Amino acid sequence: MVGLLEGLRGPGDVGVAISAAGVVDVGAGRVLSSTNSIAGWGGTPLAELVSARVGLPVWVLGDGNAFGVGLAIEYGVPDLLALVAGTGIGGSLVLDGEPVLGAHHAGGHFGHVVSAEAAGMPCPCGRIGHLEAVASGSGILAWYHANGGDPAVTTTRDLTRRTDELARTALHTGGTALGAAAAGLVNAIDPRLVVVAGSVARAGEVWESALRTAYRGGLIPAVAETPLEVSGGGAETALRGAAHYVMRRMKA
Ligand SMILES: [Zn+2]
Repeated sequence: MVGLLEGLRGPGDVGVAISAAGVVDVGAGRVLSSTNSIAGWGGTPLAELVSARVGLPVWVLGDGNAFGVGLAIEYGVPDLLALVAGTGIGGSLVLDGEPVLGAHHAGGHFGHVVSAEAAGMPCPCGRIGHLEAVASGSGILAWYHANGGDPAVTTTRDLTRRTDELARTALHTGGTALGAAAAGLVNAIDPRLVVVAGSVARAGEVWESALRTAYRGGLIPAVAETPLEVSGGGAETALRGAAHYVMRRMKA
């Protein structure tokens, strides 16, 4: 996802902000690695390639972190924990408007924490039993198909339209896994606010009810009042976050 930024410091100042999947070295504008979901993406010198084409300065931010910054803007708060569940699961810990990128550029890859609901299920990263394997859009579908679901169902949206017990259980299991993981992260980090976003966040009542029940049930007393919001925000949220991140640096 690419956004053109104009008028950063005055007429003629233009840059490009990219929100990209994978582990991104923001300083180098390079994708360091990705899961099997995007084969061949790792190693792509994205900023260099785009800059050579458009003749403008280019910055690249990981999509989970871009989404997190965008959510912080939308909710009007400086700090939050964002969990973004779409094809995969990413997110961001945002403090004072800035994403915590980590020592190896992998900060926010919350899909790769161990989940009880994902026991035995293969994750796109190659490990077994990670949250993404059961609670991402593809993970919810994988659970449904692994348990005898209709092969004609190919998207999470299809699943939400089904009324059979197996489809509801798949959504319930994904919601439970994500809610439990969110609680575990809140217990460890103690953010002001948790926002769950991404296409899976629109999976409906069965999913959201399971998410909230598992979340509340998993919090330790010290953080029991931490609010959890489910965001309807879409791709524009990540783009807004990436643009904001870049503008902060161009103005510095
Ligand atoms: Zn994984």
